[in-house]
Amino acid sequence: MPPLETDVLVIGGGATGTAAAWDAALRGYDVTLVDRGDLSEGTSGRFHGLLHSGGRYVVKDRLAAEECIAENAILRRTIPDAIEDTGGLFVTTPDDDLAYADRFLAACKETGLPVEEIPVAEALRREPRLNPGIRRAFVVPDASVDAWKAAWSLARGAAEHGARILTYHEVVGLRREGDAVTGARLLDRRTGEEREIAAGFVLNASGPWAARIVQMAGIEGVGVVPGKGIMIAMNHRLVNTVVNRCVMPADGDILVPIRTVSVIGTTDVRVADPDELPITQEEVDAMLADGERLVPGFLGARALRVWAGVRPLFQDEKAGPAAADSRDVSRTHAVVDHRERDGTQRLLTMSGGKWTTMRLMAQDLVDAMVRQLGHDRPCTTAEVQPPGHEAVESYDIGSRLRAREQVLQEDQLVCECELIGRRKLEETMRRGGTTKLDDIRRNLRLGMGPCQGGFCMYRATGLLHAVGRLDGAQASTSLLDFLEERWKGMWPILYGDQLRQARLDDWIFQGLLDVEHLPEAATRAPEPEPATA
Ligand SMILES: Cc1cc2nc3c(=O)[nH]c(=O)nc-3n(C[C@H](O)[C@H](O)[C@H](O)COP(=O)(O)OP(=O)(O)OC[C@H]3O[C@@H](n4cnc5c(N)ncnc54)[C@H](O)[C@@H]3O)c2cc1C
Repeated sequence: MPPLETDVLVIGGGATGTAAAWDAALRGYDVTLVDRGDLSEGTSGRFHGLLHSGGRYVVKDRLAAEECIAENAILRRTIPDAIEDTGGLFVTTPDDDLAYADRFLAACKETGLPVEEIPVAEALRREPRLNPGIRRAFVVPDASVDAWKAAWSLARGAAEHGARILTYHEVVGLRREGDAVTGARLLDRRTGEEREIAAGFVLNASGPWAARIVQMAGIEGVGVVPGKGIMIAMNHRLVNTVVNRCVMPADGDILVPIRTVSVIGTTDVRVADPDELPITQEEVDAMLADGERLVPGFLGARALRVWAGVRPLFQDEKAGPAAADSRDVSRTHAVVDHRERDGTQRLLTMSGGKWTTMRLMAQDLVDAMVRQLGHDRPCTTAEVQPPGHEAVESYDIGSRLRAREQVLQEDQLVCECELIGRRKLEETMRRGGTTKLDDIRRNLRLGMGPCQGGFCMYRATGLLHAVGRLDGAQASTSLLDFLEERWKGMWPILYGDQLRQARLDDWIFQGLLDVEHLPEAATRAPEPEPATA
C-alpha cells in the first residue's frame, strides 16, 4: 500500500475524534481520521445518550456542569438533527434525601443552569408513569442524542473540507524521529494490509485506549481510570422526558427516552481493560430495580438489550495518586501536552470529558496544536454547522413516521420498528462502503427496536445480496456475525415478553431459515473498500 501523508492525524473516530477532525479541517488543515472500527463504535456509541443540561454535576463537579450548560446550548444550534429536545426532570423519589433538592436548586442558580421547580402534580401530568410518591420536581434543558448521526455528520463535514475518514484502520505503531512523533503505522483490518502515514501532528482522541496509543510513542504513565457503566434499553418510551433522580450521581438514576426506546443507566465500576466489559446478572437486576424506583411497573416492562461502555476518565500519574472510586474523578477533560509532560513534540492526547462537551474538547485539543505550530487559525465550530443540519429543527419522535406516510405506497418498509424503507436502505448499502450489517445498524438504527432485528435482518441481508454488495456466502456470514453480536446484548435480560420475542426470532432464524447451515458461510466477510464520509 502506498504511504499516506497528512497535516494532522486524528486517532479515534468517537465523539472527540470526529469533532476534532471537523474542527481542524475547518481551520484549513489537511486531516486524516482513523478508527480501528466503525465511527462511534467505542464509548461514544455505548453511552447513555444524554445531552447533559449540567444538572447531574451541578453540586459535585461545578466545572463539568458549567461546560455542559454552555455546550448543550451550542450543540442544539449546530447539530439539531442529532438532538431530540425531550427536556429533563430532576425528581426526589421517596428514597431520596429531601435536603439535596435545596442544594441542587441553589447550585443551579449559582451556575446559571436554567431550572424551574414545578408542582409534583404537574410533573405527574407530564409523565404519568413516574413514581407517584415523588416529593419535588425540577425542569432542566436535558435532551437525548443520536451519537452515530452526530459522528457521521461531523465526519462528512470534515470530508467536504478535504479530510480522509478511514474506518477499520487501526494504529499499530507510532513513528518517532528524534523527540517528535512523525506518523503512524496503520493496519487495515478489512484487508490485513499495513501502511504508513506521515503526519505533521498527531491528535490522540482514542478515549479509554489513549494510554495504549501514547505507549506506542514510548511514553508511560498517562492513565485513564476506566469507569465501566451498563445500560438497559426498554422496549418503548416509558417516559418522554429525561428523568433524573435528584441525588448525588449514583447508579441507575437516569432514564433517557431515545427514539423508540428508553434507556436506564448507569453504573460506574473501575475495570482493568476497556476491551473486557463483562456484564453480570447482579448488575442487570440492580439496574432494573433502580428503574422501578423511578417508574413503578418497570420490572414488568420488557428489556430489549443490555450493553456496557467505559469512561475515559483522566488520571495522570504525574498529577498524583488515582482516586479510589471512579465516580470521584472529575468529568471535565484535559489536554495532555506531551511536549511539556514528556519532551515529545507533535503529539497531544485528549482525556476525560463527556459526549456533551465533545465540541469544546475538540476545540481545546486543536487550539493546543495550533499554538504549538505557531499558527493563527481560530476555532469556528460554535457557529458553523456540519452538513445536514442546516434549516433543520431538532429531531422529534414523529418525524420518521410523517416522512414515511408521504411515500407509504411507493417504498417497501424493511424495518417496522424504526420505519426504515427499502430505498433508504439500498441507498445506504450502495453509498456506505460497508457490508457489515452491524455498521448499517448504527448508521440507520436498523434492528434497534423491539424485535431487535428479528423481522428486518434477513430482509436486509437479502438486499445486500440483491444490490450486489455481497455474494451468497458473504451475506450468510454477515448475518451470522450480526446475530452473534445481538445475542451478546440480549442473553442477560431474557425474561417475560423479551424472552418470547427471542424465542420467536430464534424460530425465524433457526427454524425457518436454518442459519446454522446457510450456504458456505465464509469465515470473514471481506470489505473491498474503506468507508468514506
Ligand atoms: C456508561 C457510560 C455512559 C455515559 N453517558 C453519557 C451521557 O449520557 N452523556 C454524555 O455526555 N456523556 C456520557 N458518557 C461519557 C461519553 O460517552 C464519553 O466521554 C465519550 O463518548 C468519549 O468519547 P471519545 O471520542 O473520547 O472516546 P470513544 O468514543 O471511545 O472513541 C475512541 C475511539 O478510538 C478508537 N481507537 C482505539 N484504539 C485505536 C487504535 N489503536 N487505532 C485507531 N483507533 C483506535 C476506538 O475504536 C474508538 O472509536 C458516558 C460514558 C459511559 C461509559
